[in-house]
Amino acid sequence: MSTPHDPYVRVRGAREHNLRDVDVDIPRDTLVVFTGVSGSGKSSLAFGTIYAEAQRRYFESVAPYARRLIHQVGAPDVGEITGLPPAVSLEQRRSAPGSRSSVGTVTTLSNSLRMLFSRAGDYPPGAERLDSDSFSPNTAAGACPECHGLGLIHRTTEELLVPDPSLSVREGAIAAWPGAWQGKNLRDVLDALGYDVERPWRELEPADREWMLFTDEQPVVTVHPVRDAGRIQRPYQGTYMSARRYVMHTFADSRSRTLRAKAERFLTSAPCPVCGGSRLRPEALAVTFAGRTIADVVALPLSALTEVLLEAGGGSDTARVLTADLLARIEPVTELGLGYLSLDRTAPTLSSGELQRLRLATQLRSGLFGVVYVLDEPSAGLHPADTESLLGVLGRLRQAGNSVFVVEHQMDVVRQAGWLVDVGPLAGEHGGRVLHSGPPAELAGVAGSATRRFLFDEDPPPAREPREPSGWIRLRGVDRHNVRGVDADFPLGVLTAVTGVSGSGKSTLVGQVLAGVLAGRRPADVPGPPVRAEGCASAEGLEAVDRLVQVDQKPIGRTPRSNLATYTGLFDVVRKLFADTEAARARKYRAGRFSFNVAGGRCETCQGEGFVSVELLFLPSTYAPCPDCHGARYNPRTLDVTLRGLTIAEVLDLTVEAAAAFLAGTPAAERSLRALLDVGLGYLRLGQPATELSGGEAQRIKLATELQRTRRGHTLYLLDEPTTGLHPADVEVLMRQLHGLVDAGSTVVVVEHDMAVVAGADRVIDLGPGGGDRGGRIVATGTPREVARAAGSRTAAYLAKALR
Ligand code: ADP
Ligand code: ADP
Ligand code: ZN
Ligand code: ZN
Repeated sequence: MSTPHDPYVRVRGAREHNLRDVDVDIPRDTLVVFTGVSGSGKSSLAFGTIYAEAQRRYFESVAPYARRLIHQVGAPDVGEITGLPPAVSLEQRRSAPGSRSSVGTVTTLSNSLRMLFSRAGDYPPGAERLDSDSFSPNTAAGACPECHGLGLIHRTTEELLVPDPSLSVREGAIAAWPGAWQGKNLRDVLDALGYDVERPWRELEPADREWMLFTDEQPVVTVHPVRDAGRIQRPYQGTYMSARRYVMHTFADSRSRTLRAKAERFLTSAPCPVCGGSRLRPEALAVTFAGRTIADVVALPLSALTEVLLEAGGGSDTARVLTADLLARIEPVTELGLGYLSLDRTAPTLSSGELQRLRLATQLRSGLFGVVYVLDEPSAGLHPADTESLLGVLGRLRQAGNSVFVVEHQMDVVRQAGWLVDVGPLAGEHGGRVLHSGPPAELAGVAGSATRRFLFDEDPPPAREPREPSGWIRLRGVDRHNVRGVDADFPLGVLTAVTGVSGSGKSTLVGQVLAGVLAGRRPADVPGPPVRAEGCASAEGLEAVDRLVQVDQKPIGRTPRSNLATYTGLFDVVRKLFADTEAARARKYRAGRFSFNVAGGRCETCQGEGFVSVELLFLPSTYAPCPDCHGARYNPRTLDVTLRGLTIAEVLDLTVEAAAAFLAGTPAAERSLRALLDVGLGYLRLGQPATELSGGEAQRIKLATELQRTRRGHTLYLLDEPTTGLHPADVEVLMRQLHGLVDAGSTVVVVEHDMAVVAGADRVIDLGPGGGDRGGRIVATGTPREVARAAGSRTAAYLAKALR
């Protein structure tokens, strides 16, 4: 099929998921984009087939024993692939780094920075040189000895430990103590030690109160228990433990999560007084570079760090080499619009788009060539003004001798690609074919492609007349992150788009401050001065809103046990239907029998997960289908029961679209399935584990769950880039839903980069002008037409193009 110099990756007979026996030839050393509506099969081709096959070959070559694993996990369903280089995946889902990771560790810039401080830092006179580990709070050599590298210390106070000082010790004044026997024991010990346990707490001597709560002593006394409920107990040796000691010990060492959580209620945390929260030991903090400690440096936005390094310039040869290396590695990060991030920013506070771009920037310096990079919508979270730089970075990966395959929805990226693979025409079983594989311009001749209309801007939707706001929420003195001293007015009864480059403060203003103000407000019928919420001096107009619904991209669950059906409540309906069948009634199976989360009906080998975790030496642990139920999750007896010919496992395997037909006539099921179809999720399977869903899919599931509710009153919906992962054709469907909510009397606020959405909004609030310290202001606000004409707005030009 191919010669050694054949420049194509040739895929034959791809049948993964919905792919219809696809044959496709894709050039190497090219920027290739995969397009198609969501669920059409783009990821199944790019990730599920091409990347998966490259991965399988890699495993086989490095670890022959991995064959067994691959056999279990299953190779991709494909006839043959030739010309396939090794692949590196930068997929967004399923790759969340741990909570200890940060921008510094994800990019490995931390390592270089520690080396710089170790080798080229300024040490106090007489101090010994430290190795680079000593500059890491995550090593024993570097961690602050006071807080063990946590940066926080936990303290407790009398107010926390004794919330009601009118009680006596006997009556339970020390709320932090355990209940039952242990608490009674501690009270009896105090009594035996001669403390007054009958008087109200507030009447006791301060010195006694102090000792009872905070002593580190653990005296032992003989306790003669008082008669308790008619039982006489024998004397015993009791040990005292102060309330603080008990709380700290429980919080640090208890195996019980409930006890730990209870202990935490009696603690406050404060920055560690020794390291000031920097988590590092004093010796490391005494070393400076360009007059700054490493703790100062990791808190700088990368754009500011660049300036510091450039100014420091010269110095020793070592310093020059290390500085140059750092600068070269920071550059692609700032180029990708992430210069507002600091190295100490923790990974869980980053969006998946930010993370992917960090990884992408890191790859530029990896020196790999001859590999194929497979990326998942790298433009997610990126303002159109930054798309150019993204293309620049992708271009450099390619020039270094690599192939770059991206799944993308943004037409500006698609137009710049060297090759386009368009999958479709629709989702699920109505998709799975390659409609076009060739230069993007040639898509013009392809009938039936959902992408064509958007790529060539054919018949754009007619301009909308913006709605008039029915009122306003006025925030005064917003002060959080980079948004400093800003007044912001949010119109009610309309759809507002909040725009601005990455890091300009959109999520801060909308997702944190506006949401925080609405969530924390006083009920409308309680009078009082204007609300003060964190990060906002005052807020007016909140009484018009009855309910806040924040629809974010956080996963709907973190384990494979939660899925679409459990999250939406559909699963309850389905289990009841099964329990109502003749067969179930005859066997006395109730609804619980059809749950895979409790013993009874589930497969016990995998405890209802359908998968077992396979540990491999040297390789990350992997999930493989359960050897007993083969992924069905249930035991054979449960699967004896069928509903109109399908087992419960087969129902979970239905797509939303198929389930809508199968469950027609059951109103509760119809309602939630209708809502899922309306947000374009007809292609998802009911049992698809939460861990396999993208952020965009999770967000649309939440939106659908909201849509199926019967609504009363005025709801304010907040959405963060709801178009992530959506083809422009899907975006149109989603926008109809959101406008429908406004027509029904609600307010919608979306943070968005898609200019088609912004152009179709009623109002726009544009933040900027830049990211981080260079942003945080409201640059323009008004109708889309007004903002499109605003001077100094980086959004204006792009918006004007979308409005025409
Ligand atoms: P796209 O990337 O175009 O949005 P996908 O390749 O993710 O589409 O999905 C194509 C089809 O394959 C959909 O019908 C989807 O439900 C199905 N699918 C995706 N992942 C799986 C899976 N792990 N198991 C079974 N079917 C899947
Ligand atoms: P946008 O949503 O426009 O991309 P953000 O609101 O996420 O911007 O970020 C605005 C600024 O606030 C940036 O400088 C960012 O680094 C900072 N920031 C955002 N979230 C956090 C956080 N959890 N901790 C510290 N800084 C943050
Ligand atoms: Zn400390
Ligand atoms: Zn099993």
